[in-house]
Amino acid sequence: MSASKRTAPDVRNAARPEWTTARRIVVKIGSSLLSDKDTGALKSDWLKSLLDDVAQLVADGKQIVLVSSGAIALGRHKLQLPKGPLELEQSQAAAAVGQISLAHAYQELARERKLTAAQILLTLGDTEERRRYLNARYTIETLLELGAIPVVNENDTVATTEIRYGDNDRLSARVASMVAADCLVLLSDVDGLYTAPPGVAHSTKRLDVVTAITSEIEAMAGDAGTELSKGGMKTKLEAGKIAFSAGIHMVIASGKVLNPLREIYEGCACTWFLATSDPLTAKKRWLAGQLEQKGNVFVDAGAEKALAAGKSLLPAGVVRLEGSFDRGDAVVIRATDGRELGRGLIAYAKVDAARIIGRKSSEIIEILGVSRCDELIHRDDMALHKVTAQN
Ligand code: GLU
Repeated sequence: MSASKRTAPDVRNAARPEWTTARRIVVKIGSSLLSDKDTGALKSDWLKSLLDDVAQLVADGKQIVLVSSGAIALGRHKLQLPKGPLELEQSQAAAAVGQISLAHAYQELARERKLTAAQILLTLGDTEERRRYLNARYTIETLLELGAIPVVNENDTVATTEIRYGDNDRLSARVASMVAADCLVLLSDVDGLYTAPPGVAHSTKRLDVVTAITSEIEAMAGDAGTELSKGGMKTKLEAGKIAFSAGIHMVIASGKVLNPLREIYEGCACTWFLATSDPLTAKKRWLAGQLEQKGNVFVDAGAEKALAAGKSLLPAGVVRLEGSFDRGDAVVIRATDGRELGRGLIAYAKVDAARIIGRKSSEIIEILGVSRCDELIHRDDMALHKVTAQN
């Protein structure tokens, strides 16, 4: 946030560089922050202050994705469901009712700040299955490029127990990894990780910084969430593991204050989980090692040079395809003599890819009737071996 807009004097710690340099930030908002515990009503003053912070961050050139809980908490109140645990069907009904109010609130508050909110409802499969993962990612990326604020929640109305996250801590970490965010913020009713779960030890201390989620750290988390929020510290640490494996910094901070994101900027009490590898390196490690390869993409010398120079793979540089793959599958990129150049996630299914190889990206729409993207494999979805282009 720009210094001129700050209202509080600089009496506390300075903002961490992980926050000031972050370009893309995912913010998870817990149910207890949005819905009054007794009346179930939307805490609109708080939400207004959050949207003020978002508007300021956007004005400062950052891209923000919100992952908002609160649908079930708001909906159960409107449906006058009893207190206590809900049956799955009741949660789904409550989510259906609450999500409308939630989306409406974000839409209105964003509009008042000349921002556009966009609703994205995801299921576990959308973040785990590669083809759907790419679809969701392209949509969120496109919204960010268009200057909109994606507001994500789990699609609770269709998610059954087996295919459900159930908590937005882990969902938000998956979203952060999906869009290669620099920073993930978990706003809830706790201001960080303490050396012991609440009520367990006489004296506990909040940790300022965590750099690895060891068994010792895990022992510090209790596992109970509150009635409103599904996640406790345990799911927050799960989120931390996902964030770390994607090279993303995470911060657990209290949302019980107004302007909670400005508070982070101003150096409030919180726990930072500092990732040691950068997002791209982490993603490339994942791409290089863990995926089952579904085919081979043979590229010409020109494309090989372009790849070595850090460019994406365009259909024009591809001479031959082998294997059977769907959109989003992992493939091996090879030179015409068979040398493995790297691996990547292919953006077109084999049937479509076969029709566009050797052709200009501008022709894709004419050939396929639809053009999802210019690249066959985007450079962010690619891990190249350390090779230099052959002359
Ligand atoms: N998706 C749930 C909702 O909107 C919240 C899950 C959670 O509390 O993390 O109510």
